Amino acid sequence: MKPATKFIHAGAEPDPSTGAIMTPIYQTSTYVQEAPGKNKGYEYARSQNPTRKALEDALAIIENGKYGLAFSSGVAATDAVLKLLSPGDEVVTGNDLYGGTYRLFTKVFEKFGIRFRYVDMTDIGAIAAAITPNTKLIWTETPTNPLMNITDIAAVTALAKKQNILVCVDNTFASPYLQNPLDAGADIVMHSSTKYLGGHSDVIQGALIMNDAALREQLYFIQKSCGAVPGPMDCFLVLRGIKTLHVRMQRHCENGEKIAHFLRQHPKVGKVYWCGFEDHPGYTVAKQQMRGFGGMMSFTLKDDSVEKAMKLLSSTKVFSLAESLGGVESLINHPASMTHASIPREERIRNGLSDSLIRLSVGIEDVDDLIADLEQAIG
Ligand SMILES: *Cc1c(COP(=O)(O)O)cnc(C)c1O
Repeated sequence: MKPATKFIHAGAEPDPSTGAIMTPIYQTSTYVQEAPGKNKGYEYARSQNPTRKALEDALAIIENGKYGLAFSSGVAATDAVLKLLSPGDEVVTGNDLYGGTYRLFTKVFEKFGIRFRYVDMTDIGAIAAAITPNTKLIWTETPTNPLMNITDIAAVTALAKKQNILVCVDNTFASPYLQNPLDAGADIVMHSSTKYLGGHSDVIQGALIMNDAALREQLYFIQKSCGAVPGPMDCFLVLRGIKTLHVRMQRHCENGEKIAHFLRQHPKVGKVYWCGFEDHPGYTVAKQQMRGFGGMMSFTLKDDSVEKAMKLLSSTKVFSLAESLGGVESLINHPASMTHASIPREERIRNGLSDSLIRLSVGIEDVDDLIADLEQAIG
């Protein structure tokens, strides 16, 4: 099936009791049983809920996977993957991770004896060098947040397969419309469904998608045992978001491309980080593993002062100053003080995330209005 058809019909079966075309919001905590142990496959809503099931089926379909699991947030999904590990196990991961992922790794899981090695994930040699006999997981984001670095998913999975290491790809930035890591050999795909999947900035949610049945069982066990499940209303919202993912992404890509080029030719703009530029170091890999370049980008001003960046950040009128991304409306963000404030400053600077960096999540408004807004804000 082609994407447009797949995204609209994924997981949607008419409701068996009424024929309702939209999956109902099953707002229930428990299910009546005919006799002890005799039920319709639903016992208690932490373990199973029909609205969540419809969403989980949809998640699997849109990522070309066999199984989907929905969580109460993106970090809850990440947390579940880390709980596959045991004390002494090691994780090789990127040095420009989403701030919340970095915080979870360093402040929560290190305490439980899991060791993390942070490397430049664009460098396969660096990844190979960080692997030890204790390495059980490679965790990567691509494109990265906020510097838009590209990891070669197929190369990483080829390296990991030889040594029996799981690979999990945070596919939040690309969305399943632009990239399907399972097709490139990844074991698990993670999403913050809060972003492009939901698409309307009205829900917090996470997802995991995989092909292996045993891995699905382990992760389902963690989902129900630890309990970070999303409510049925939120599942309904993400299901609804998925139906328009392809049209939204097409516009995010069109607008993103125009804005990236506008910024790049602007005399007051310094560096623009967007993986669709032919001279972006990850361009060749991005072109090969992605179907478009999306609407996420970062930039600095030529006058690289924090004051100038701060002034710009509070001068936009269409772009709203806010954390998060992937919604229909355009957002502007200051990673150093907002999304990435949980990464120590020295660490941030070392990895190229300067105090004056500005990140954009380009929405699907009229691109002329977006460009005019940036033009007046840059001044
Ligand atoms: C937002 C985000 C997360 C965390 O997801 P939540 O839904 O906020 O818990 C993880 N990874 C990336 C790339 C994100 O943008």
